[in-house]
Amino acid sequence: MKILVVGGAGYIGSHMVKQLALSNHEVVTLDNLSCGYKDAVKYGELVIGDLGDVNVLKQLFSNHKFDAVMHFAAFIEVGESVINPAKYYHNNVSNTHVLLDAMVKHDIENFIFSSTAAIFGEPQYTPVDEGHPQHPINPYGRSKLMVEHMLEDYDEAYGLKSTCMRYFNAAGADPDGELGERHNPESHLVPLILQAASGRRADIKIFGQDYPTDDGTCVRDYVHINDLCDAHSLALSRMQKTGSSARYNLGNGKGFSVQQVIDTAKQVSCRDFKVVITDRRAGDPAVLVADARLAKQELNWQPKFDQLETIIETAWQWETNFFTQ
Ligand code: UDP
Repeated sequence: MKILVVGGAGYIGSHMVKQLALSNHEVVTLDNLSCGYKDAVKYGELVIGDLGDVNVLKQLFSNHKFDAVMHFAAFIEVGESVINPAKYYHNNVSNTHVLLDAMVKHDIENFIFSSTAAIFGEPQYTPVDEGHPQHPINPYGRSKLMVEHMLEDYDEAYGLKSTCMRYFNAAGADPDGELGERHNPESHLVPLILQAASGRRADIKIFGQDYPTDDGTCVRDYVHINDLCDAHSLALSRMQKTGSSARYNLGNGKGFSVQQVIDTAKQVSCRDFKVVITDRRAGDPAVLVADARLAKQELNWQPKFDQLETIIETAWQWETNFFTQ
């Protein structure tokens, strides 16, 4: 298949591009490099441009006949989305709308969308399945849910088929050591802990130790980046076969507290580092764990890196090879 990966220079997108290329798909990346890196696009053509630019899209879709579009080009900082919602609604919603309209115009019928557990808001029960009520508590989550709604309407009206992939906590790195996580500024727990382990950061701060969990720190469901990419590949095949839209919650179904992630990182890295307890971060639910049974049943998705140690090992390999050599 010929696939356009929008945001293919970012963390998840770059791993996806690699997996698609190694599975013999033809891949083109569209990325404006606002958050991604040119050197993260190791496979296929890179077109530098904005997904909200109608002219760029017109040219791309006239030059290539894509079988599908995968969209990873979103802003993802919850805190920033509260302070600057315009940035999120502009890129994550308006620009995605421009992309979808261009797809409809050029008869591209398959779309895979990076969505998030943040569309659910504060969990009413856990683990969170696809039927869980959707009440996002920040503009980031709302921007993603708006696109999910748009996609339902575009399917109904224009026959655009989509699969929404709701990630819980994406983590880890390419086991080959070629790609990894490089957010700037970094805000995610696993890379921040490993920066503390490698000495690039003075300490790791735990945001709150007074949550109603076993050790008082927040519990999350960490899922390896390659397993997420597998789910996308399987979803694409399914969409091609069934011609229907779908949505999946993607996680390992097992929660780890911030403290447990820190302890595991200390073991994996064989390093000790300073841990500081600070106040809670706004908008953090205590526990967020996925019920991913639907993806397992319908896609036959089987996460391969389902141990936290292995996820952290791959991230540690990236931290030590890429950043501290
Ligand atoms: N967290 C933390 N210290 C940090 C970064 C994150 O204690 O420096 C916590 C955060 O409050 C959350 C968990 O780690 O409970 C995972 O946060 P992350 O930002 O990685 O992902 P999120 O759950 O927000 O998608």
